[in-house]
Amino acid sequence: MRIAVLLKDRCQPKRCNLQCIKFCPRVRTGDETIVMGSKGKPVISEELCVGCGICINKCPFDAIRIIGLPEELEGECVQQYGVNGFQLYRLPVPREGAVIGILGPNGIGKTTAIRILAGEELPNMGKILDKPTWDTVLEHYSGTEIFNHLEKVASGEIQTAMKPQYVDMLPKVHEGNVTELLEKVDDSERLADISQELFIDTCLDRNLAELSGGELQRVAIAATVLKDADIYFFDEPSSYLDIYQRLNVAKVIRTLAQTKQVMVIEHDLAVLDFLADNVYLMYGEEGAFGVVAHPRSVRSAINTYLQGFLKEENIRVRVKAIKFETKAPRDDWKAEALVSFGTLKKKFESFELETEPGTIKAGEVVGIVGSNATGKTTFVKMLANEIRPDDGEIDTEVKVSYKPQYIEPDFGGTVRELFMLELEKLAESGFFRNEIAGPLSIEPVMDRLLESLSGGELQRVAIALALGRGADIYLIDEPSAYLDSNQRMEAARTIRRAMEKSGKSGMIVDHDVYFIDMVSDSLMVFDGEPSVTGHGAGPYNMRDGMNQFLKDVGITFRRDTETNRPRINKTDSRLDREQKSSGEYYYQG
Ligand code: ADP
Ligand code: SF4
Repeated sequence: MRIAVLLKDRCQPKRCNLQCIKFCPRVRTGDETIVMGSKGKPVISEELCVGCGICINKCPFDAIRIIGLPEELEGECVQQYGVNGFQLYRLPVPREGAVIGILGPNGIGKTTAIRILAGEELPNMGKILDKPTWDTVLEHYSGTEIFNHLEKVASGEIQTAMKPQYVDMLPKVHEGNVTELLEKVDDSERLADISQELFIDTCLDRNLAELSGGELQRVAIAATVLKDADIYFFDEPSSYLDIYQRLNVAKVIRTLAQTKQVMVIEHDLAVLDFLADNVYLMYGEEGAFGVVAHPRSVRSAINTYLQGFLKEENIRVRVKAIKFETKAPRDDWKAEALVSFGTLKKKFESFELETEPGTIKAGEVVGIVGSNATGKTTFVKMLANEIRPDDGEIDTEVKVSYKPQYIEPDFGGTVRELFMLELEKLAESGFFRNEIAGPLSIEPVMDRLLESLSGGELQRVAIALALGRGADIYLIDEPSAYLDSNQRMEAARTIRRAMEKSGKSGMIVDHDVYFIDMVSDSLMVFDGEPSVTGHGAGPYNMRDGMNQFLKDVGITFRRDTETNRPRINKTDSRLDREQKSSGEYYYQG
């Protein structure tokens, strides 16, 4: 079975010579396999195409996909967005008493799938010319596993609640303060309890526009949980949350699942592992198609995903398996000190920070972990001499390039124009192209307007921009937000290689433990009372840093026997108690 997809945001017929049409051998022999459509973009006939792949290679903007799909997917298309548009195959099935996870790359229909299950979108089953109605949908799915669910949604017998992906949009769609928003949705009069459980009781009087990303995320989660629904969907609940908040949110969601149905899309694998019972892996190609694989236990799903081969489906999603080290990396590597600092102190009106002395080496990537609002950015700004410490010495002045946590697409032009403006000649250097833009897959979005990018695309552009500037220290604040698990691993690799090659240092603030494991040579650990006091120490070697950090969080990790990946221990399990008493929270051996 063959599908033809045109990635419409890439296709630019005004800027090419319509090579797809000119070189298609079928067109040359006189049929209409590719013709110019009424919307000014080529239309490819799936019936006439013989799958030679010439158009894919000829298109200068890499906008065409001709894909052979397994025959068993025939008739299983759930949703197709127009002629030669994205196609979703199969749906995950919600289950009583379990948290069902969905795991897969960005742009392959995860959000589409849960919107359909929530009744927010009617699927057309691939029949793009007919407008779907609940009658046609129920007729199509009659006798299948998902029928009962869809029927109950259609008849209003079950109510659904959804936490959307982009919480940054919340202040744009709701005016007013947190209480006003939550009161509107509070069917169960649990506002006081839930806001305490999610630690947002202190921001109830504040306007949504004044909240940080982490606070907005928890307000959005509270608004979802407060609704009296039968099935709850959470699209990426962990973005912007620190690890304490992630674990806490996971507990709130798990409690909810004891009496309700819950589905979650999540890219933080340690959190997903802790949160979900069963997981549907999804595979496909960004913007072209997505297939929901059959459900697996959470352990088997994550292992399969990391190993990259879906045996039952006979599908390879990754060439090389992703491996984790059980032993802490060596910390005796020799490199010059890039910057050394003594005890630094800084006091603001309502926040006080103290950091212990330390040294950052050239080429080193320092992971920075700890609660939100405990002074991580303030510390780096002191290194950059943007803020003067009240007390303490820094031996050399360093230049810092900074990727902020929240990125606003406030530039009217394309990605290429942004790079040319900000990076000037550096944007054309081989180093930038091969070591940064290439691995971060920036090329396909180069000619897109910044404001048209998805969260994950914008994140990759922002990382590339920060890494592309000339500096001594690269402070990258929460690079994992909106990236899927694969992109996180690629980003980690890119940051490490760029630092190694340039002999500069990276300081990476992130809350995804797998990401921190992959990106860091050493760790700085921040703690304190968020927004009141902060204390920073390190860089430590990975073993000491992880032990110190996880002791503070109160969790230990065991290793998966098959893949070595870290898994959060159940609190008070035998392993948890043993590891806590021996002081080994993360590494074994
Ligand atoms: P994911 O959640 O896996 O990132 P999405 O479901 O958001 O994926 O999107 C899958 C594909 O469908 C993307 O290419 C997206 O641009 C496209 N898409 C999503 N919603 C619509 C829509 N309403 N109309 C047209 N295309 C859409
Ligand atoms: Fe024509 Fe199909 Fe070959 Fe593309 S893949 S050039 S549409 S026959």
